[in-house]
Amino acid sequence: MKHLIEGHRRFLTQVFPGKRDQFHLLAEGQRPECLFLTCADSRVVPDLILQTQPGELFICRNAGNVIPHAGEPAGGVTATIEYGVQALRVRHIIVCGHSDCGVIHALMAPDKLEGMPGVRDWLRHVESAWEYVDDVERHGGELTRQTALAHANVLAQLASLRTHSFVKDAVAEGRLELHGWYYDISSGQIEQYDEQQRRFVPLVH
Ligand SMILES: [Zn+2]
Repeated sequence: MKHLIEGHRRFLTQVFPGKRDQFHLLAEGQRPECLFLTCADSRVVPDLILQTQPGELFICRNAGNVIPHAGEPAGGVTATIEYGVQALRVRHIIVCGHSDCGVIHALMAPDKLEGMPGVRDWLRHVESAWEYVDDVERHGGELTRQTALAHANVLAQLASLRTHSFVKDAVAEGRLELHGWYYDISSGQIEQYDEQQRRFVPLVH
């Protein structure tokens, strides 16, 4: 805890004074353009990897970047997305998976989840990812399968996102775009799903 308190002290004395005007403006309200939905993993730091500032990203995080189907209870995820789309009128929703994801590991080896009934139960929101893994990848090596399943989970969660009528309507009205991303922790690179090529390609060339 100590380094968190020290960090906040540095923020107050060294960072905040230089951004005082920006924060005063933000105190009036937020108008983020993007809802960024990603995993709770400590190594995925949206404002660092996208170099965004306070007020730019409306962020929703949970283990495995899960989005429940319409009508399914799943904590505050649906409420957060609904608020982002309906109240904040975000223009983009980005669903971002990542490498070495604990939820993907759990999906590959659910027998190792002894003593974690909550995680086991949560996995039901991720199981449809298997449907998006093609056969070659399914029979590939461990790393190939992990990456394929993490990619597939992004597509599964996007499909789940589209089951919500407020999302479908906003997309149909042309005021919302959906994006599937994958962040590789070791290289720092983000890939995006290309609808035409039906595969993930680098976001930046
Ligand atoms: Zn994860």
